Formats: sequence, structure tokens, C-alpha cells
Amino acid sequence: MPVLRFNALKESLNNKPVPFKESHRRSELFGSNVFNDAVMQQHLTKAAYTAIKEAKNGAKIDRITADHIAAGMKEWALSKGATHYTHWFQPLTGATAEKHDAFFEPVQNGLAIEKFEGGQLVQQEPDASSFPSGGIRNTFEARGYTAWDPTSPAFIYGTTLCVPTVFVSYTGEALDYKTPLLKALQAVDTAAVAVCKYFDKNVRKVNASLGWEQEYFLIDSALANSRPDIMLTGRTLLGHSSAKGQQLDDHYFGTIPNRAMAFMRDLETECMKLGIPVKTRHNEVAPNQFELAPIYDEANLAVDHNSLLMDVMDKVAERHNFKVLFHEKPFAGVNGSGKHNNWSLGTDTGVNLLSPGKTPMSNLQFLTFFVNTIKAVHDYEELLRASIASASNDHRLGANEAPPAIMSVFIGDQLTKVLEDLESVTKGKLSPQEKTDLKLNVVGKIPEILLDNTDRNRTSPFAFTGNKFEFRAVGSKANCANPMTVLNSIVAKQLTEFKQEVDKLIDSKSMKKDDAVFNVLREYIKQSKAILFEGNGYSEAWEKEAKKRGLSNNKTTPEALKARVSKSAISLFEDLGVMNAVESKARYEIEVEEYVLRIQIEGRVLGDIARNHVVPTAVRYQNILIDNVKGLKAIYDKDYKKFANEQLKLIEAISYHIEAINSGVTLMTDERRKANAIDDVEKKAKAYCEKVKPLFDDIRYHSDKLELLVDDELWPLTKYRELLFTR
Ligand code: ADP
Ligand code: MG
Repeated sequence: MPVLRFNALKESLNNKPVPFKESHRRSELFGSNVFNDAVMQQHLTKAAYTAIKEAKNGAKIDRITADHIAAGMKEWALSKGATHYTHWFQPLTGATAEKHDAFFEPVQNGLAIEKFEGGQLVQQEPDASSFPSGGIRNTFEARGYTAWDPTSPAFIYGTTLCVPTVFVSYTGEALDYKTPLLKALQAVDTAAVAVCKYFDKNVRKVNASLGWEQEYFLIDSALANSRPDIMLTGRTLLGHSSAKGQQLDDHYFGTIPNRAMAFMRDLETECMKLGIPVKTRHNEVAPNQFELAPIYDEANLAVDHNSLLMDVMDKVAERHNFKVLFHEKPFAGVNGSGKHNNWSLGTDTGVNLLSPGKTPMSNLQFLTFFVNTIKAVHDYEELLRASIASASNDHRLGANEAPPAIMSVFIGDQLTKVLEDLESVTKGKLSPQEKTDLKLNVVGKIPEILLDNTDRNRTSPFAFTGNKFEFRAVGSKANCANPMTVLNSIVAKQLTEFKQEVDKLIDSKSMKKDDAVFNVLREYIKQSKAILFEGNGYSEAWEKEAKKRGLSNNKTTPEALKARVSKSAISLFEDLGVMNAVESKARYEIEVEEYVLRIQIEGRVLGDIARNHVVPTAVRYQNILIDNVKGLKAIYDKDYKKFANEQLKLIEAISYHIEAINSGVTLMTDERRKANAIDDVEKKAKAYCEKVKPLFDDIRYHSDKLELLVDDELWPLTKYRELLFTR
């Protein structure tokens, strides 16, 4: 057997569960490495503590106060054994970034002190010229700076104090995921508070919440490292499916294997210390696929937690000789991974605005936010689709796996009925008194109805699940900030418009507030019907139906991303102050460019594996067969065919597949060369998408056929059954 695969298999067999013992109760560990509220009260002056609290509502922190905060933070961090500090941020590469500086600072006479002041806390200038900027920062003007985000608490990871920051160019444009997210959250807060005032004057703040569910594959690291495609692209580019896959459904919610369990417990302990409130863990559908979900949190913090989690997972996995695959489709033929984003809006008075209340009035508030969200998704479905577009997510969306590339909203039978009733009750002219009673009748029934509204439609990309919406199309590898920025922005925009329309009816038609709300909602229900879909999202019938309804079906990333720079998207973000036109365009360019690079790398790796690993192996096996046939001929002379018939067929079949692979790789290389010569990045992406990528399938097909023909002893690549079923 080839050395690499053989050694990897041997090593993987020796990888036993790493003994893991919990030394503390989870509740004692929780947040122990976070500069959280309790710690702040202990380590900060009253004024400094109040300043941080107020920063959450947008207040600025002055330099002297920042010095005080830094002093308290330093004292705490040193007491926890930290030696370094870093500004921790989320550049558009998708990974988190950090540059560690020691607290240590030499002073006179050969002495040294530990130093960390307001200046270092508030702002830093990492040399940022190699982060993607979409042309915002010319490389000769490489300055970008990171600025402290006081709304997300600092934490210690290892021996480093990490300060969450935004990352912006010298001229103020956002170069990260967090900046626009914070602005979108601000926008939805403002817009939602204004609408809440119709129902409750005491509401002063609305927080968007996010509860993500992270799916991932856990692969033995020796095996993962033996596959060049997994190492370089995060997924397998070839490999015949295993005789047993997920068809028995025996993995989903099954017993978690011992090795994976040791990893999870270790991981959860780390999460506890970092204040990531992980709660559930279970096996997913595919073999060696798992899911981890925390209790939901304020969206900015939840996004930080998810980015941090992905880092922590990588590091903990190393200790357990695992590699975590975050890719949306690491293996053909078994389920891919997503990251459901559960989203809602909650007030500072403790009300979940997407949870129906006990009284008709609170239900009217629920309906207001419910219908406005549907309308927002309806109006900006293409932008929402763009927010989850990536080369890797293309393998799930629109590739006959949950969910489709068509955005639609699932609300369940019961709420469908409520919306229908509402539409017909308020039909005709506005607001005769008896009709108000009828209307309240309709909304009065909602809570009872929802109690048994348990039907779930797993094929819907955006589903209402009782007290929140679940955006299921988000990819497992993605930074949630991107979809969260879009979702909160479109809802902010929609709520602002809603408020204007209702106010207009109240002012100009002297309509009662409730009637005005009802009337605007009724119009919205009518206008956004096209986005509501309760059926099977995977079916061909839905594709046809969606087309009739005028919904987009952008199956590929280059197609989908265009919505980012549509007039309506640019002005949406501009009007809300989330991003200016330059920032929108830069982001678009970065994402298109990233698409090109991903496919380019995959093409190169595939070409290499196919030509340099698969074909030579096939030739070697073919030579063995040829020798065999020659031997048979020597023995049986003219009669040899009687005995060599199958071997001869095999020899021919192998030649056929080798020929197909070689011409496929040549063709792909040519197309890549042509695509590379294109300057315009949008056209280049189109070429990679339409000319290069489709050739992967054919090369793979023939290689996978060879895998079935060639002697297992000779096959160089670790096989699917080994990757997916090693425990
Ligand atoms: P499941 O969808 O797996 O059946 P749940 O419906 O209980 O489970 O919740 C799924 C996820 O939704 C959990 O991660 C939870 O934290 C999150 N979630 C629950 N309520 C909210 C909310 N108001 N806002 C955001 N996320 C929420
Ligand atoms: Mg879910």
C-alpha cells in the first residue's frame, strides 16, 4: 500500500480518546476568562464601569476613562496569568486576526514594567496591507486601524488578553465584518424602538438576537492530512462514495463516539471559560458530522462568539488528533453542513417581539414585526441570498440539498390562516368600528394556535419557528455577521417605512392607531405573498412556481453576488448609514475575488491529484494486469483469452478512464489559463464558474471509477469509508 495512506491509517488506529476530566462545574467555569460585568465591577472605578455600560447605548468613552479601564483590565489579565494583549478582529478573509504584544515594557536601569494604557486599549495600527480591502486602501497607503468595541467584552485566551475591535481604513471605511454589523444593529434598534412606541411607550432599546447552530465534520487528523485536497481546500475533490453512507440514518442523534465525546467535553470547557454559552451537542445526519449550539445572545456578541468558537475548535481538535472541517460540503453523497441563524428582536422591557403575547394588543405588536420581517425578506430576497453566497456554500444551495437557492419564507398552516383572515377581515374600506372587533378576534387567537403549531418544513431557507425566524441557508464556514448585517438592515429599513405609512394614515385620515396599523399590515400581506411558501423547497415544481412568482434563483455565487451592488442595495445601506457606496462595492469585489481564488485553488489541486496520484497508480495496476495477461499467454498460448478475458476488459477500461482524466485536466488547465487572462474580476469569476468548475465533475467521475477498479493495496488516497467511519 502507498506509504502515505498506509501510515495515516496506522496512525489513526492508534489515536485513542484523549483522557479528559472535568475539574469544575460548568457554572463555576462560565465566563471565568471574560472581563464581564461582575469582573468589571470588581476591577473598575465606578465612573469607568458606568462609561462602559453607557457605551452600549452609543456613548463615547474619553481618554482618561479609557486609561482607567485599561488599568483595571490589565490588573485582571495579569492576575489570570496573561502575558500579552491583542486587538482581536474579523477581517474579510473570514478568519479572525490577532497580533500579540507583550505587556512587558523595559524602562530605565535595566528594569521593566507591565504596561497597557488607554491608548493601547482604544486604538492600534496593525500593518494591514495584506488584508483584503477591495481597493479601498491602496497598498502604498497601508494604514488601517483597529478600534475597541466596548460592547463586546474582552477575554483571555491562552495567555493573551483579547480586545474585540473593529477594523477600518485610515479614511474610515470598514475593512471587517463587525463595523457594518454594529451599524445595522444600531439601525434596527432605532427603527424598532420607534415602532414599539405604538404599543408600549416604555421601550427604549431593541436588541437583535442571534442563536447559531454550528455543524461540522470531525475527521481523524492523520487521515485528513493524508489527503492533499482536504489539506488545501477543506473538502474532498474526489473519492468514491462509501458502500455505507448515511442511508441507515444511524448516525443522527445516535450515541456520540468516545473520541468525539472527549473532544466535545474539552471544547465545551474552553467555551465555558470564554463565556460562550454552549448548550446542545449531537450527532448530525452524516457519519462523523456533529452540531454544537449555544443559548442565543445579542447578535454582535453571538457573532464574536461564533468566530471565536471556530478558532477554539481548531485548537482543541489538535489536542485530540482531529481536524474540524467547516466546509459546507466536504464529502459528495452525504449531507453538507450549515449554520442555522435563529434571529429575533427583543426589547429592554423583556419582550420578544416575534413571540405572540397573551392579549390581542400584544399580538398586534407581534403581527407587526412578523409581517414587516416577511415584507423585508420579500423586497430584498436577492440581497439576502447574496449575503450567504460563497464558493463552498454553492454546493449546498441549489444543488439539491437543503435549502434551495430560492429565498422563501415558511410560516406554517396556522399563521398562513391568520394572515389570510387578516387580509379578508380588513378588506374594503378602512375601519368601521365592528370590524375592529373582528380584527382583534383574529389576532386574539394566535397564542393558542401556535401552541400546537409544530409543523416544521426542513426545506425552507427562512422559517418561522414559533418565536423567532430561522435563516437556514447560512453556510457552516461563514461569518454570521454578513447575513446578520443584511437581515437587520432590511428589517430596519422596512420598519422605518412602516412607521411612516402608519403615521401618515393617522395624521391625514385621522385614523385610529390600531386601524392604521391593521391597514398597512394588510397591504403588506398582499404585497409580499410571493415570498411565502409552505411546500417542498427541493422540488422542481417549486423552481417553476418561484419563477412565475418572480423570485430569483441565483444558483451560483457570481450570479448571486451581483445583488450586493444593485442600486437598491447600495442605497439601502447608504440610507441607513451601514455602508457607503465605496464600501458596498469593495465588499462585492472582495467576495468575487475570493470566489475566483477558491475555484482556482481547487482546480490546481484537482489537476495535481488526478495526474500525479490517480493516473500513475492506475498505470501501475494496469502494468500488473498486463504482466498477468502475458503470463497467461505464455502458459495457455492461443487459449489464453479464455482465462484473461476479464483482465483484458479491465486493461481497456483503465485506459479509457486514464485518457478521459488526462484530456479533462488538459481542458481544465486551458480554461483556467483563459480565465486568468481576463482582467475584469466579474468576468473572470463568470469564466471560472461556467467554464472551469463544470470540468471538475468529469475528472472526478473517471477518477472515482478507477478507484473501484484499481487494487485497494495500491490506491494512494485515503478512501471515504476510512475518512467517514474512523472512530
Ligand atoms: P431546534 O431548532 O434545534 O429544535 P430550538 O427551537 O429550541 O431548537 O432553538 C434553536 C436555536 O434557537 C437555539 O440555538 C436557541 O438558542 C435559538 N433561539 C431560541 N430563541 C431565540 C431568540 N429569541 N432569538 C434568537 N435565537 C433564539
Ligand atoms: Mg435549527
